[in-house]
Amino acid sequence: MSFSVALVGRPNVGKSTLFNRLVGRRLALVDDQPGVTRDLREGEARLGDLRFTAIDTAGLEEATDDSLPARMRRLTERAVDMADVCLFIVDARVGITPSDEVFADILRKRSAHVILAANKAEGSAADAGVIEAYSLGLGEPLRISAEHGEGMSELYAALTPIAEEF
Ligand code: GDP
Ligand code: MG
Repeated sequence: MSFSVALVGRPNVGKSTLFNRLVGRRLALVDDQPGVTRDLREGEARLGDLRFTAIDTAGLEEATDDSLPARMRRLTERAVDMADVCLFIVDARVGITPSDEVFADILRKRSAHVILAANKAEGSAADAGVIEAYSLGLGEPLRISAEHGEGMSELYAALTPIAEEF
C-alpha cells in the first residue's frame, strides 16, 4: 500500500527544499541500509492523506557547473530504478537547460511514472520557464513553489491516481 517518489533533477532546482517540505522531521538516515549510500536521503513524506517514501538525490549537490558528470547520471538512474514514481524538477526561473534534457531522456527511457514540476514558479518571473518545460515531452508541468508551498494541491492531484495502483 506504500509507494516511493524520487525527487530528481539537476543541482539547485529545489529538490531538497521540496523534500524537507514533504518530509518535515520524519527523516530516516539511510546510511545503514544495504545498497543505499548517503547520496540518497529517504524520508516518510506526507501530502494530505497520502503517505509515501520520498527519496532525495542529495549527492548531486557537489556538481557545481551545468555539466552532467557520469556520477550524477548513475545516481539518478539508481533513484529512478528504486522508486515507483519520479518527480522531475526543473527551475522555472532559469528555464530548460541541456542538463534538464539529459534527465528527461533518462526518465523517458526508464521510469513508468514521471511527474514534471516547474519549481520556483511563484510570481510572473517564472511564466516563460513553465511554458518552456512543455518542450521536455513529459506532459504538462506542475507549477510549484517548494519554498512557498504553492502547487501542493496540484502535486497531490497528480500523485493520487498513481498512489491507487500501490
Ligand atoms: P537542490 O540542489 O535541487 O536540492 O536545491 P535546493 O533545495 O538546495 O534549493 C536550491 C536553492 O533554490 C536554494 O537557495 C533554495 O532556497 C532555492 N529554492 C528552492 N525552492 C524554491 C522556490 O520555490 N522558489 C524560489 N524562489 N527559490 C527556491
Ligand atoms: Mg539538494
